[in-house]
Amino acid sequence: MNNQSSFDRFLHYGDYPDDSDMNRQMLESDSISPDLYEKMGLLKRAPIPSSIECQTCDQYASIVPWNNKIIAFCPCCGRYEPLEEELIWWTPCFAPVIQSLYDGFCCSEETECLISGILWKLGRCALAGQSRVIYVARGINSNKNSDIVEKLPENRTSLLFVFGSLPQNGKSGTFDADKVFSINSLMTLGEAGFNVNKDPVVQTLDLLNGTHPRAVRGPGKYSKIGGLREKIQIMLEDFMHGVYCEKEQYLNSGHEYVFKKITQVQLAEAFGVTPTMVNNAINKKAFLKGLYKRACDPVAAYNYGRSLEKKTLH
Ligand SMILES: [Zn+2]
Repeated sequence: MNNQSSFDRFLHYGDYPDDSDMNRQMLESDSISPDLYEKMGLLKRAPIPSSIECQTCDQYASIVPWNNKIIAFCPCCGRYEPLEEELIWWTPCFAPVIQSLYDGFCCSEETECLISGILWKLGRCALAGQSRVIYVARGINSNKNSDIVEKLPENRTSLLFVFGSLPQNGKSGTFDADKVFSINSLMTLGEAGFNVNKDPVVQTLDLLNGTHPRAVRGPGKYSKIGGLREKIQIMLEDFMHGVYCEKEQYLNSGHEYVFKKITQVQLAEAFGVTPTMVNNAINKKAFLKGLYKRACDPVAAYNYGRSLEKKTLH
C-alpha cells in the first residue's frame, strides 16, 4: 500500500465539514488501513451504527438489540445476525494532523478552536524571517464557508492551511491565494509517522518578502503615505517578532543564528512602491524612523520581538 496516496485521500475527508463514519470496506477502498490509522490516532471507533446495508438486498437494515444480542432487521429479508465486522465503524480524527502542524511549524501560543471541528487558530510561528499567525480549516468549500470566513482575521500577514482542496474562487475571505496552502502539500506520511514540510510556505513567503517584486501590486496601491506607513510598521514588527522567534529556535536546536536585516529596497518591493517612497515614509515620521533603526540592529530587533511575543501571550 502506498502510504502517501492513502494519506492524501484521508486529508481529503477534511473537504467536508462533518464527520462521517466509515466501515472497513469504505476505508480500504481508499487504500486506508483502519488498523494502522486507528493506531496513529487518525481514526476513532464510532458507536455501533443504527442501520447497515442488508447482506442480501439493497435495503437498509436497522440494528436493534434482541435477546442480549445485536441483530439486523431488514424490511425485505427480515431478521439476521450481522457479522462483527459490519458493526465496526470509524470516524476520522484530525487532531494528530493539527498537532503535527503545530510542532512542525514550531508554533507558539496555544491552539485555539474557533469553530468546533472546523476552524482553529493554530498558533504563531516564525517563517522566512517574519512572524505569522496560522489558521487551519476544514470544509472550506462546503456550506460552512461563510461561517469560516466570518471568523478569519482581516490582516494581510496571517496564513490559512486547509484540509483537502484549496478554496475555490472567493472562498478564502480576505486571504490572498498566496497565503493559503493545502495541508496535502505540507505533510507526508512515512514509515516513522508524519513529516511536515515547511518549504512550500517558506518559498512563497520569500517571494512575497521582496526577493522578487509582486506582479499583482502595481505602484499606486499605497500611494497614500499614511497607508504605506501602516504597512511598513506591520512588516517591521512582524520582522522583529520573527527575529526573536527564529533566534530562539536556533538557540534551542544548538545552531548559530545569523541576523539578516530588512532593507528599504525589500520593503519597497514588497509593497510595489519605489525605495524613495519608503525612505520618505520612514524618515519623516520619528516613530517609524525609530522602529526601522531597531529593526536594523540585531539586539534591538530581538528585544523588541520579545516584547511583542510577551504582548501576544497576554
Ligand atoms: Zn434485505
